[in-house]
Amino acid sequence: APLPRTVAADLGVPTLHRTVVDYANFDHAASTPALESVQAAVDAALRTYSSVHRGNGYASKVTSAWYEQAREQVASFVGAREEDLVVFTRNTTDSLNLLARALPRRTTTFVFESEHHAALLPWDERRTVRLPVPGSVEDALVLLEEALAEHARTSDGPRLVVVTGASNVTGELWPVERFTEVARRYAARVALDAAQLAPHRRIDVGALDVDYVAFSGHKLYAPFGAGVLVGRADWLDAAAPYLRGGGATARVSEREVQWSQGSARHEAGSPNVIGAIALAAACATVEAHRDAIEAHESALAQRLQAGLAAIEGVSTWSVFGEGHDRVGVVTFTVDGVDSSLVSASLSAEHGVGVRDGKFCAHLLVDALLDGPGAPATAVRASVGLASTVEHVDRLVSAVSRLAEHGPAFDYELTDAGWEP
Ligand code: PMP
Repeated sequence: APLPRTVAADLGVPTLHRTVVDYANFDHAASTPALESVQAAVDAALRTYSSVHRGNGYASKVTSAWYEQAREQVASFVGAREEDLVVFTRNTTDSLNLLARALPRRTTTFVFESEHHAALLPWDERRTVRLPVPGSVEDALVLLEEALAEHARTSDGPRLVVVTGASNVTGELWPVERFTEVARRYAARVALDAAQLAPHRRIDVGALDVDYVAFSGHKLYAPFGAGVLVGRADWLDAAAPYLRGGGATARVSEREVQWSQGSARHEAGSPNVIGAIALAAACATVEAHRDAIEAHESALAQRLQAGLAAIEGVSTWSVFGEGHDRVGVVTFTVDGVDSSLVSASLSAEHGVGVRDGKFCAHLLVDALLDGPGAPATAVRASVGLASTVEHVDRLVSAVSRLAEHGPAFDYELTDAGWEP
């Protein structure tokens, strides 16, 4: 059946990806173009803004109100609870590093090696239990349960389980509630890396029963530079401020500093108000169109996955098995063709933008590529609001041609990569 008119037009994804160039962008999992609603919000803010949380002038008050309104919009986007803080950060990496520094002393963190480096690396190595890339969901749950049980036998220190909402490599959705259920049996808190989940699926921290959630604006149709950490206030309020400086202080005397409670404690310095406004505008638009977005993307994702998987000489990847529910991310290799050459050829010959490499998830990519003679890297194609059926079909037929005949041009490996 034909897909409904692309939601890109309805939501106002900008022209580069729609009309000006016939360019098929399949790198939405890395960063997305900004929505028109986001551009409008930023434009309005740029015309009026002044200092935030400091001045008494009109523009300053308006700016402060916008900043706090942005916080409320983000809180609503994830269904934040009374006891949650919304802390604006630079991105998911920043959010998870903030959380890592805010953990009570003696906290042990449990994290799967399949995580993005942003979720794998911020934790104190001496107190981190690394769980191997699982073979299935059941396997993952058993691995987690065993590790938590083992820890609980010898320690009553705090525990934190880190899980991803959707993998940036395979696009597979992690059944977060099931991980939380296991974590709760051992009184562990749960942090959700929602960088890949937020653009594609509704997030409700209460329903998922997670304690912290982190995501980035630039993967959610807002520009770079703003992200968020939402989660339980108690550990955040008890922790040393993430940054020390103005704005994070309640009172400073010659002898002592009293740090603020609440979000301000971790937001020292003049905040990225424009970024927060952009992120909140993206949250509001995406939240209002969830069903249309999911319908659009799931049809494209299935077409992409099925199309690539059917090509001889092409291997598509999964951790949990081919049928597992996923967002529109498909990672693949083409037999006999280097992944960076695949992406160079797709770009130069077909106007298709994909990504190749290890996607900041080296341990997962190495595990999936395991085996003698296996290639070192892979190619990732990820759909978004601006993707169309034509884009998917173009990508699939281009990969099919590549797998059968190799690239159409001669390529030379230069410092800038493969050049035709
Ligand atoms: N987690 C996942 C699952 C991601 O895909 C990414 C971005 N590739 C990150 C974390 C880090 O996001 P950022 O670069 O915005 O900090």
